[in-house]
Amino acid sequence: MAERPTRQQAEEAVRTLIRWAGDDPSREGLRDTPARVARAYEEFFAGYGQDPAEILKRTFSEVEGYDEMIVMSDIRFESHCEHHMVPIIGKAHIGYLPDHRVVGISKLARLVEVYARRLQIQEKMTVQIADTLQQVLRPKGVAVVIEAAHQCMTTRGVHKPGATLVTSRMLGAFRDDPTTRREFLAIIGRSSRELANT
Ligand SMILES: [Zn+2]
Repeated sequence: MAERPTRQQAEEAVRTLIRWAGDDPSREGLRDTPARVARAYEEFFAGYGQDPAEILKRTFSEVEGYDEMIVMSDIRFESHCEHHMVPIIGKAHIGYLPDHRVVGISKLARLVEVYARRLQIQEKMTVQIADTLQQVLRPKGVAVVIEAAHQCMTTRGVHKPGATLVTSRMLGAFRDDPTTRREFLAIIGRSSRELANT
């Protein structure tokens, strides 16, 4: 990966963008903006400094024979589209069918967070979350559905407010067994038909 610029260089880049927008970065109201934007970027993109596999490493095997589906729905996230660098705001729903090992429920939310806090496209983020869960936890199956609004679609370009994009990735039992998939979709309040073309 390319060498990380200094904070000073990042702030200078923001001043350039302000001039590009047509304003004067030295006027009163904008004077502290480059520093604020640099700090905001540290927060928006904190996911680059975190290892998603590490988050899931601590699993619990004492599950007393629990082998039913585990679903965490409506995990809200904010990300940024890698084409326009504007927000993608949505919800992720994650399900898995454990194979003797489960992970703390807060870890699923953190997994979403790590991938959301990077420059993203929704399709890629959906695959990353599902595949990481499958690789680290080795369950009998994983399902991830993400629904999100892209501000690059709602505030510019085609201007389609209210449009949400739904993406999904089904692995193992969720891919092979329609009953398992339907059960998951019913829990998150979706039908198979809605996901037919994802
Ligand atoms: Zn975009």
